Amino acid sequence: MKGLLIALLMVGLPAFLNSLQPEAHEASDTARVVLAIHGGAGTISRDRMTPEREQRYRAVLREALEAGYQVLQEGGTSLDAVVAAIRVLEDSPLFNAGRGAVLTNEGTAELDASIMDGRTLQAGAVAGVKTVKNPILLARQVMEASPHVMLVGRGAETFAQEQGLEQVPNEYFILPHRREQLRRMRERGMGAVPELKEHTYGTVGAVALDRYGNLAAGTSTGGIMGKRFGRVGDSPIIGAGTYADNAACAISATGQGEYFIRAAIAHEIVALMKYAGLTVEQAAAAAIHGTLTRMGGRGGVIALDRNGRLAMVFNTPGMYRGYVDEHGHITIQIYRD
Ligand code: ASP
Repeated sequence: MKGLLIALLMVGLPAFLNSLQPEAHEASDTARVVLAIHGGAGTISRDRMTPEREQRYRAVLREALEAGYQVLQEGGTSLDAVVAAIRVLEDSPLFNAGRGAVLTNEGTAELDASIMDGRTLQAGAVAGVKTVKNPILLARQVMEASPHVMLVGRGAETFAQEQGLEQVPNEYFILPHRREQLRRMRERGMGAVPELKEHTYGTVGAVALDRYGNLAAGTSTGGIMGKRFGRVGDSPIIGAGTYADNAACAISATGQGEYFIRAAIAHEIVALMKYAGLTVEQAAAAAIHGTLTRMGGRGGVIALDRNGRLAMVFNTPGMYRGYVDEHGHITIQIYRD
């Protein structure tokens, strides 16, 4: 009997120790990232920033990360975490999403958003929405409560009403400093090609990995300042501004949408991982510093793989960004260095 026990232990122990190893490695070595967010890429530099302004941005980014992390801690899904984080950023007047969005050439706010589930490859998106308080909630409803992937304009708003989502007058989104920016832009004469000037950044996005091993991504924006009304950027385009696939990674992009659409940047990163065997860092760098930069486009991405490895890559002077690891440690960054 005693001999049998020893024999069992001898066979079982190495297997038992082996099974512990991945956990021990993760806990002691590099902690997995479970949620990352961005608040837009652009000409964000230290000399244009006051300490108070920087503090305000950092506080909202932190609040968004905490909201998403709490969802994950309580056993929520990566989709729930992405929505929780983006809602905070949409409600903040600091970012170009929801309240505080940039304005069209007509002086209105037209909002775009999308979300994708890396487990099922289901996706939902809305574009040109004018009255839905939290466009990311509507994108999720399109994914979960309709047979479609994208709804635009009046059809999207009618669907929002049917789904019981909160609606607000367009003025709710429009803040005085945005009107002023548009006025100045009109004075200078609006360029044909939207540029990532100081005042035009602020799109928001999130990527998350839950305890079930599933990835999700979401993005929400007012687009680009002075855009023609009716213009749709990359943020609601699945494969351009947003993508999630458990077999590769979850991505949210920000930058000059026209370039991200033409290069299908988010899906390019997934494809480079799946078919060329690149790591998430290599794939994101190839898409932003290779493809996008070669085309003359500006912007960045956050990309999270299913092992909790995060890449935050951009070719602009700055990108508001932050992440939280599995232990709840929060990191927030703004500038390139
Ligand atoms: N990508 C967004 C758009 O083109 C803008 C941004 O990220 O700043 O609509």
